[in-house]
Amino acid sequence: MAKDIDWDKLTFSLTPTDTMYVAETTGDEPWMPGDLRPYGNISISPAAGVLNYGQGLFEGMKAYRTARDRVVFFRPDENARRMQRGADRLKMPPVPESIFIDAVEQVVQANIDWVPPMGRGAMYVRPLLMGSGPVLGVSPAPSYSFMIYVTPVGPYFKGGMRAIELLISDEFHRAAPGGSGGVKAIGNYAPGMMPSKMAKAQGYAEVIYLDARTSTYIEEVGAANFFCIKDKVLYTPELTGTILPGITRDSIIALARHMGYEVVEEKVSAEFAMSADEAFCCGTAAVISPIGSITHGDNKVTYGDGTPGTITTTLYDKLTGIQNETEEDIFGWLHEIPL
Ligand SMILES: *Cc1c(COP(=O)(O)O)cnc(C)c1O
Repeated sequence: MAKDIDWDKLTFSLTPTDTMYVAETTGDEPWMPGDLRPYGNISISPAAGVLNYGQGLFEGMKAYRTARDRVVFFRPDENARRMQRGADRLKMPPVPESIFIDAVEQVVQANIDWVPPMGRGAMYVRPLLMGSGPVLGVSPAPSYSFMIYVTPVGPYFKGGMRAIELLISDEFHRAAPGGSGGVKAIGNYAPGMMPSKMAKAQGYAEVIYLDARTSTYIEEVGAANFFCIKDKVLYTPELTGTILPGITRDSIIALARHMGYEVVEEKVSAEFAMSADEAFCCGTAAVISPIGSITHGDNKVTYGDGTPGTITTTLYDKLTGIQNETEEDIFGWLHEIPL
């Protein structure tokens, strides 16, 4: 490995790498493949649609070095399709799946020395799609940029999984029916920062958001999807348009069913979740984060003894095992990056 990196010091933070990818188009011409260029600052009009009106999307995915000495993506076609759905919602030209996959492969190949050794992290890949051309009135930008940068990140849990303490918010919502909560629109995330900081100041890891219409049903945990387990049945909030359809969420549903568990996608009330036996949240960054306790007003419940539950731990081991190829890829989820 050429890079002089202390892999064990990596956290989930930005380490600049060598090369990024940029493609550009007007709204009218089709996307053409972009090119690799040195990683660095970009130049953009102060009137860019993304800066003024938030016409932007992001994706988040990981490239893993595996036990079979390959570098693989986990279900990258799902990231490509999710970004296309987001582009439709934000009136941007969708990047064709073939260009997306080719681009994320190229940028990992160009930065291959930055992919951590197996088990010591992964290369986080961040595609961005934005209205980069200038526009004054509120309307779609005249031109668009598709960019990708990568950064090595450490394992989310160093020294084993830890359960987190969460706080249900009665004051704030993440997304409303008919809005943009179901796509990875950049504008969805800043409004969560203040509630998240407030919860952290009180000693919680993150906020649980309830549905905006009735404040009854769990939607998400910050920027992660929610599951709870009761009498060996898994429950996760159904996708109603206000919940981001996580690829980790979808994978856990398939994996749990394959392992013989019943999985129910329906409205999950905070009350029901607080009566469950185990709970966890999930996303690309941590894969699975066990939940130790949930607090709602004066009411606090601790799951078991507050440590990761058994089914939660089994699912984590299986899913991370598939990702690093110590388990068989029974669903064909891995996409090898040619080196
Ligand atoms: C990205 C994201 C998730 C997790 O999605 P994955 O595809 O599993 O990484 C969940 N909720 C929100 C709000 C997100 O932005």
